Amino acid sequence: MAQILGKVADVLINIAIDGPSGSGKSTLAKLLAKRLCYLYMDTGALYRAVGLYMLRHFPDGWSEEILTDALENIQLSLEFSSGNQTVFLNGEDVTHDLRTQEVAMAASQVSAVPRVRIFLLDLQRNMARENNLIMDGRDIGTVVLPDAQVKIFLTASPEVRAQRRVAELNAKGIACDFDTVLTEILQRDRNDSTRMAAPLKKAEDAVLFDNSACDLDQTVERALAIIRSRLP
Ligand code: C5P
Repeated sequence: MAQILGKVADVLINIAIDGPSGSGKSTLAKLLAKRLCYLYMDTGALYRAVGLYMLRHFPDGWSEEILTDALENIQLSLEFSSGNQTVFLNGEDVTHDLRTQEVAMAASQVSAVPRVRIFLLDLQRNMARENNLIMDGRDIGTVVLPDAQVKIFLTASPEVRAQRRVAELNAKGIACDFDTVLTEILQRDRNDSTRMAAPLKKAEDAVLFDNSACDLDQTVERALAIIRSRLP
C-alpha cells in the first residue's frame, strides 16, 4: 500500500465515500484513514452542528428564512487529532452533542436548504485541497469533490442499517427500538434522496458497494481493493 500512502506525482489524494444513513460510511472511512495515514473528515457532523444550533435557538421549529438568517451567527471550525474530528460551534466543542437522533433529523432538515450547503462548501473543499483525505457524506463524489480520484457509494438494505444503528446505540447505553430506528432511517433516506439541492445519489464514476452481507473486516478489505484499483 506504500504507493497510496502519500502523494501520487505531487497530487493530493481525495477519496469520497457517499451513501445513505447507517451504511457504515464513517466507520469504514475512519479505519481506511488510519490504514492509509490520511485525514478523515466527517461532513455529516457539519450539518449536525447547524441542526444543533437551530434546535437550541428555535426549539419550536424554523422556516427557511429563519434558517438562512441564522447562518450569519454560526461559526464552525474543526480540529483533527489522532484520527478524531472535533467540531466547534461558535467556539464550543459540540462533538458529543451531535450524535443524537434528534440532531440527526434536524441535520437532515437543514441539509435540504441550498444556502446551508453553500455555507459548508468551502470548509469541506479547503480540507481536501490541503490534505490526503477521506471524506464521507451524501454529495461528496457528486458536488463537493467531483474530481476525487476514488469514489465509493456504500449502501446496505434499510433493515441491515437499522440493525447496525440499534447495536451502535445500545453499545453506548442508549435504549431504542428497531421499528422506530427503521422508520427514521427510511425518513432520512427519503429526505436525503428527494431533496432538490445535492440529493443523495451515486456519482457516475463511483463504485457501488452494497455491504449488507459483509462484516467490518470484509468491508474494509473490499474498499481497499477498490482504492488500489483506482490509484496508479
Ligand atoms: O452522516 P450523518 O448521519 O452524520 O449526516 C446527517 C445528515 O446530514 C444526513 O441525513 C444528511 O441529511 C446530511 N448530510 C448531507 N450531506 C453530507 C453529509 C450529511 O446532506 N455531505
